[in-house]
Amino acid sequence: MYLKRLELAGFKSFGARTTLELAAGVTAIVGPNGAGKSNLADAIRWALGEPAVSRHLRGRNSAELIFNGTATRPRASLAEVILTFDNQDGALPVDYSELELTRLIYRNGQSEYRLNGTRARIGAVQQWLAQAGLGTNSYAVIGQGTVDRLIMGTPAERKILFDEASGEIGRASC
Ligand code: ATP
Ligand code: MG
Repeated sequence: MYLKRLELAGFKSFGARTTLELAAGVTAIVGPNGAGKSNLADAIRWALGEPAVSRHLRGRNSAELIFNGTATRPRASLAEVILTFDNQDGALPVDYSELELTRLIYRNGQSEYRLNGTRARIGAVQQWLAQAGLGTNSYAVIGQGTVDRLIMGTPAERKILFDEASGEIGRASC
């Protein structure tokens, strides 16, 4: 299973609909300061269920996720992020070989999810993501601070991260 495509419309600096085809094996996105690299990571985290107002997404309110306009392009009325997963290896617990997860938010704060284009309840999507190992606490997306902890931490500190990622801590305390 891998993230095959990332599509954004009206999300943060991506006012125009933008599609990134992420061929298997893509490991880096590079670009000048302010180009929107972190906004792409934010889009992935947000579509995977991160709350709109969170330290990770660097916003103070959900409207900050929506493209705010420029001199040449009007602001967007909603933000939309679509993650397309290739599931040919069946790693995601669904019968589809490709799965599209969409998250939308409107300026009035109303938010919704879609699975393969069909509206889905937030609770059901979060349960599904947790089963797939893609939940917000799963380390499926890790930030710079966590990478530093992995590289520079002591073996004991590293073990804590590995245990958390593999679910050992959760199991041990059950
Ligand atoms: P760096 O290399 O400095 O880390 P970066 O490529 O990670 O830069 P981002 O942080 O992803 O850049 O993008 C920052 C840009 O996104 C800023 O110019 C900011 O104004 C713009 N931006 C963020 N939110 C919005 C929004 N809601 N509407 C329009 N632009 C936005
Ligand atoms: Mg950045």
